[in-house]
Amino acid sequence: MITLKSRREIGLMKEAGQLVAQAHQIVKRMVEPGVTTLSIDTEVEKFFEKQNAEPLFKGYPGETPFPAVTCMSVNEQIVHGIPSDYVLKSGDILSVDTGCRINGWCGDAAWTYPVGEISSEAQRLLKAGEEALNVAIDNLAKQKKWSVVAQKMMKVAKKHKYSLVEKFVGHGIGREMHEAPQVPNYTKKSLDRDDFLIEPGLVLAVEPMLNAGTADIKVLNDKWTVVTRDGKLSVHFEHTVAVTTEGAERLTEGVGR
Ligand code: MG
Repeated sequence: MITLKSRREIGLMKEAGQLVAQAHQIVKRMVEPGVTTLSIDTEVEKFFEKQNAEPLFKGYPGETPFPAVTCMSVNEQIVHGIPSDYVLKSGDILSVDTGCRINGWCGDAAWTYPVGEISSEAQRLLKAGEEALNVAIDNLAKQKKWSVVAQKMMKVAKKHKYSLVEKFVGHGIGREMHEAPQVPNYTKKSLDRDDFLIEPGLVLAVEPMLNAGTADIKVLNDKWTVVTRDGKLSVHFEHTVAVTTEGAERLTEGVGR
């Protein structure tokens, strides 16, 4: 069941969202050649601790609990990469996803960062990923049904000849990080019955993942890291967004800036 949030609740969620945005600013400052993904994760963990915010990713249940406060996915890794002693090098792209809860409310956001100098091909993919997210957010309050918004994201992917990952979806968010509804980045007939209405009070984590090659994925032996099956690059952009009577508000505004 979808729970709509009051104005006051959306205000509280914005506080969580802004901590997530600040965590991303730490990430953005640290991302450069020679830095390990684990060292970035450690700083984000310290930040959440200092803010008395509860990190939402560490211990997340799976075949083994997720071991870190951020997901760090490099190059062909799509999502759920585990921070490690991998040393970032110029030309890499790094997708970072993190979330926290404060005063009982959650925020969640992801961004793909360039490391040093990246290829024009990678730059194009990054731009397209951000465009897909922006198109979704810009249309969110203008449309009545989510499927129409998803269609607009599909158009962006198609225009650039990239593919949207279908295996992983966005989600409702509130007191819990993952609430109803599921928020797919694509539409097809079989999804029609899962479509949902867009109305004030709806808060979603919108998170398109765009692959340079095909949408096919596989999961590595660590049981977490999701990679493109063809080994080509992938990007991930996510904001926590609230629908209000005035339009769509990015609760995690500031991520990637
Ligand atoms: Mg999410």
